[in-house]
Amino acid sequence: MATTEQSVVDAVRPQLFIGGEWRDAGAGGTLPVEDPSTGETLVEVADGQPEDADAALAAAAGAQDEWAATAPRERGEILRRAYEKLVERADDLALLMTLEMGKPVAESKTEILYAADFLHWFAGEATRVEGRFGIAEKAPGQRVLVMKQPVGPCVLITPWNFPMAMGTRKIGPAIAAGCTMVIKPAKQTPLSMLALAQILEESGLPGGVLNVLTAKSSGSIMEPLIKDPRTRKLSFTGSTEVGRTLMQQASEQLLRVSMELGGNAPFLIFDDADVDAAVEGALIAKMRNVGEACTAANRFHVAEGVADAFASKLAAKMGEMKVGRGTDPAVKVGPLIDDDQRGKVDELVQDAAGKGAKVLVGGSRLDGAGYFYEPTVLSDVGEDARMLKEEIFGPVAPVRGFGSEDEAIAAANDTEYGLVAYVYTSDLKRAFRVIERLQTGMVGLNQGMVSNASAPFGGVKQSGFGREGGREGIQEYLETKYVAMNLG
Ligand code: NAP
Repeated sequence: MATTEQSVVDAVRPQLFIGGEWRDAGAGGTLPVEDPSTGETLVEVADGQPEDADAALAAAAGAQDEWAATAPRERGEILRRAYEKLVERADDLALLMTLEMGKPVAESKTEILYAADFLHWFAGEATRVEGRFGIAEKAPGQRVLVMKQPVGPCVLITPWNFPMAMGTRKIGPAIAAGCTMVIKPAKQTPLSMLALAQILEESGLPGGVLNVLTAKSSGSIMEPLIKDPRTRKLSFTGSTEVGRTLMQQASEQLLRVSMELGGNAPFLIFDDADVDAAVEGALIAKMRNVGEACTAANRFHVAEGVADAFASKLAAKMGEMKVGRGTDPAVKVGPLIDDDQRGKVDELVQDAAGKGAKVLVGGSRLDGAGYFYEPTVLSDVGEDARMLKEEIFGPVAPVRGFGSEDEAIAAANDTEYGLVAYVYTSDLKRAFRVIERLQTGMVGLNQGMVSNASAPFGGVKQSGFGREGGREGIQEYLETKYVAMNLG
């Protein structure tokens, strides 16, 4: 490992952050963090146990009242300082993220800046939490006062695919609203979250407001927290399957819950679309994050007249993308997160090919160290192919033709997921007709990316509920209290 790689890893404290202190796990255990491009261990971090989780929640609960009473502007200024530090250190943090997660370093840097945007956005939102005041509808001597208050200590759980941004999308609004929290990053990528905690600490965040737990066995340490009456809110980003389990746990004390879950995004291209622009958009929607994004275009439904042209152009571009270790600036496609994930991707490709799909480019794992998979385009994908129904989470693009607009919409909505859809058309009337009938929380119109800190991100159906970012994001961390006032 070159010096700079070692130094960015060494700069992270590989410990739990509880009550403003860095400490080892109570039982002294550690878990290895692996570089997915080599399979080698980068560093060991603390393996938190149930007693550590309890201490983290106790710290959050203990800090709640004082934190809720701070001036909103003070909370905003902490976020603003953390934003500036993230931006200043973006290059080092990007390298760190690439080492633990694998994506090309330029993409990691884009994620750091996107993550920072949430801190900036919610720094402003902190000072804009408003209630209302009015005369009671039928009683002129009475007043209605509506106030917003922090929901209380939060349990936050994030996935490995966007190790920093999925954290700031929760931490930013929680801090702005005056909530304390315990956050658990995914075991594959804890380093970015620990680096973020160090930055928030340096930015003046008081001890106990943010507590970070890293752990091998997430179920056993998080379930007691979710069921603990000190916890008032659960916000989870991850798979639909785990989301379902956590909702059951949260039902015990009817917790406030936000769920940002899996996707199966359709990418619709109509025959009036600019096909070259659609190919560019498709490359972003499919290949960003090596295809490991909840917003990744999972299936391309293309008007029959332009389907072959689109598929061959996309295959040519994907075939040119350099695959390799994300630290090489020429690399466009890094490794998948682990061998299990690569195995799942390959299984879906073999299933589709076995059912008659044509492999236009790619279609295999790459030999050697690391979990690399070839960028792959499949055309004539049969209706029964599993990849049309399941989240692929890899660099694989299935293309299927459609006849009519109704057929395209029916195909797009034929999934239990509903996170995002992409639509390419030059006809504005058609665009609105289609967008209004799509069963998703977000739509990209003639663009392959929707992520934006100032917009409400989230899904419908089994992609979850609640919104992160935008003006909606802070509401997830606020309660509404109504005061009936008698002035008579
Ligand atoms: P995952 O397996 O559901 O894990 C997500 C997080 O939950 C990790 O921190 C994981 O910890 C933890 N976890 C797993 N089982 C748990 C349990 N029983 N109790 C408590 N915590 C538990 O998902 P993933 O593989 O990391 O992430 C990929 C998924 O996230 C995809 O489905 C993707 O679509 C979705 N995602 C959604 C969005 C969105 O905004 N809608 C954004 C990004 C990703 P450990 O694995 O470390 O044990």
